[in-house]
Amino acid sequence: MKLEQLLEGVSYTLVQGSLELDIEDIIYDSRKAAPGRLFVCIVGTQRDSHDYAAQCVADGVTALVVQHDIDLSTVPGAAVLKVESSRYALALMSGNLFGNPSRRMTMIGVTGTKGKTTTTHMIKSVLEAAGRKVGMIGTNGIYFLGHHQETANTTPESYELQKTFREFLDAGCDTALMEVSSQGLMMDRVAGIHYDIGVFTNLSPDHIGPGEHKTFEEYRSWKGQLFKRCTTGVVNIDDENTEALLEGHTCKLVTYGCSEKADYRAGTYQLLRTHDFLGVRFHVSGKDDMDVKVNMPGEFSVYNALAALTVGKVLGLPDEAIHEGLGRCVVKGRVELVPISRKFTILLDYAHNEVSTESLLTTLRAYEPHRLVVVFGCGGNRSKLRRYGMGEICARMADFSILTEDNNRFEKVEDILADIRVGMNKGNPDAKFVEIPDRLDALHYAVDHAQEGDLIAVIGKGHETYRDREGVKTPFLERELLEEYARQIGLE
Ligand code: ADP
Repeated sequence: MKLEQLLEGVSYTLVQGSLELDIEDIIYDSRKAAPGRLFVCIVGTQRDSHDYAAQCVADGVTALVVQHDIDLSTVPGAAVLKVESSRYALALMSGNLFGNPSRRMTMIGVTGTKGKTTTTHMIKSVLEAAGRKVGMIGTNGIYFLGHHQETANTTPESYELQKTFREFLDAGCDTALMEVSSQGLMMDRVAGIHYDIGVFTNLSPDHIGPGEHKTFEEYRSWKGQLFKRCTTGVVNIDDENTEALLEGHTCKLVTYGCSEKADYRAGTYQLLRTHDFLGVRFHVSGKDDMDVKVNMPGEFSVYNALAALTVGKVLGLPDEAIHEGLGRCVVKGRVELVPISRKFTILLDYAHNEVSTESLLTTLRAYEPHRLVVVFGCGGNRSKLRRYGMGEICARMADFSILTEDNNRFEKVEDILADIRVGMNKGNPDAKFVEIPDRLDALHYAVDHAQEGDLIAVIGKGHETYRDREGVKTPFLERELLEEYARQIGLE
């Protein structure tokens, strides 16, 4: 592509060279320098990659985008373009390089402090139930039409993002659905993208501190940017920050929540539990009337489902698809049921610290199980405070705990368990528990000793697929291991 075409929409000054050059690719990592490539110099928090410009040109790079002046005598022969923000330019140029794929799909962005991942999965499930072909990007990775790959950030760098959109489009996707983090907005990763729908879940103080946002107000204002870049905003009207977050919004708003003024509002919800369902049921009224069942527990599942339902409504999807999509949505490793017996309910969850364990156990307790049983351990070579904390919470909140390994890494499992015991003793000296160091034995024990009506939470690993002993990772898929054992012992 000609440099001039690549720069479409970007404000720049040509400092040196010609716009007639052919550019094959854009890079922002100097180690990828090669002829035909354009290197974008970025001022980062750790270093300023303008320092690598000369080396890149020596390695063959054809053009440079800079944000501040560099010594032109060190970059002979290269085209040099100066822009106000090189990250912004990188985003726009990446869009151009990949043919601006986001303009040819329905774009949906989800932002908020909590519930982004769960809500995007629910939206995907609803859209797919309606026959849409969806590509999804978020904390759990990239998914499209049966493919899955991991990602480093919740919102990838703009170049990777645009490249992924291109893959979605080429594979036949009609919709791209993504989590949009405040960092992603602040770092211009999503610059140049217009969303058909922006979704807001909720806001609470988080991501504030060195290297992240300076204040809560700043964090909120970055999240609010999404509603200046979308056509329709689907927003939680019950959150106390909604009004401030939406200041200066330019989109049409459709609201959801439990309060009277919400466009789509949920009435009181019921908790439902069987061996293969652990969720909520509620009635939606307002602009529409429908009954909804979601196979995910807790009050926040009502909110996440309402957000997904509202997106479905904005897109004009049929009620049956919305109903079906919400009913069957599963997020791997998050309150993921493994229905191996009619007698009890067993689930996997990634809760691996005090706060998430407490929140999970509180949610599960509300279902009034015969016993609430937890299978858990803590990672080796990590904070001991976590061991005390998780031990304390489980001793206080569970009826029975099965202590076992998590990822031991280079520590002895016995030492980790001893630390957990300290916490348990503090939480409840009379807590009932057993110690079974091998996690597979612990899973078998949990199944063998399950009582009618028990709710068993196997926590810590969630969607992880391995266990780490002495730095060696071997496959460990809890879902499969449980299913295999159930088959072996003929469980029904
Ligand atoms: P995110 O992707 O925004 O980090 P997740 O969907 O991964 O959020 O949810 C993280 C945890 O937060 C969940 O395990 C659950 O305990 C809790 N959670 C999920 N949705 C909500 C919500 N709408 N409000 C509050 N907490 C939530």
